[in-house]
Amino acid sequence: MSEIIVAVDGPAGSGKSSVSREAARRLGFAYLDTGAAYRALAWHCLDEDVDTARPEDVASRVTDFDYAIGTDPDRYFVRVGGEDVTSDIREPRVSAVVSQVARVPEVRQQLTELFRRIIAQSPTPGIIVEGRDITTIVAPDAPVRVLLTASPEARMARRAAELGTEPTESTGQLLASRDAQDLRVVDFMNAAEGVTTLDSTELDFEQTVQALIDIVRAAPSA
Ligand code: C5P
Repeated sequence: MSEIIVAVDGPAGSGKSSVSREAARRLGFAYLDTGAAYRALAWHCLDEDVDTARPEDVASRVTDFDYAIGTDPDRYFVRVGGEDVTSDIREPRVSAVVSQVARVPEVRQQLTELFRRIIAQSPTPGIIVEGRDITTIVAPDAPVRVLLTASPEARMARRAAELGTEPTESTGQLLASRDAQDLRVVDFMNAAEGVTTLDSTELDFEQTVQALIDIVRAAPSA
């Protein structure tokens, strides 16, 4: 099991995936993108014509969900039933329904157990795990817990840059509505007790990665 578990939570567009992955690469740690699992299940539901608005239909799909994710930051992949869906799960049609899938209690329970297994089996000296509920639900006892935030304007601009578009009202609305739906399930806007807030509004990518690495190195167990 990894000695150092680094739990990173944050809202959409805070940069937590790219920052966590790069910090893991530099630290020689594994990297676990938990949002990818929720996205992969949402993709699977769309692929199978499951009505994602019906929690019981979504719940019935999680039991035999054949899912694999890479935890090497240099060899990241996501597979469902052997099919590579690494880029497909980022499509807007998946982002549009993923919150519906993620709010189903059976889904959260199964995926939380899966994440804990992956963390337990990781052979690296450390692992950075990022998502919405990592500091509070998945790994509340992690020695390093960070909430990565940024202003709504900064998050919207970053998401637009990721998608290769201009920041528009609709990018902002989509981001805000996904956060609003996700906030009904777990509070990732306010740091829980013992969680360090890293506000990246005024930081560029490199500075944010460095700030996360500094927090990890300053932790008593690191
Ligand atoms: O991080 P990302 O934006 O890829 O996450 C996609 C969706 O997965 C989130 O909008 C949320 O609904 C769900 N999610 C979650 N818990 C996590 C990670 C992601 O509910 N730990």
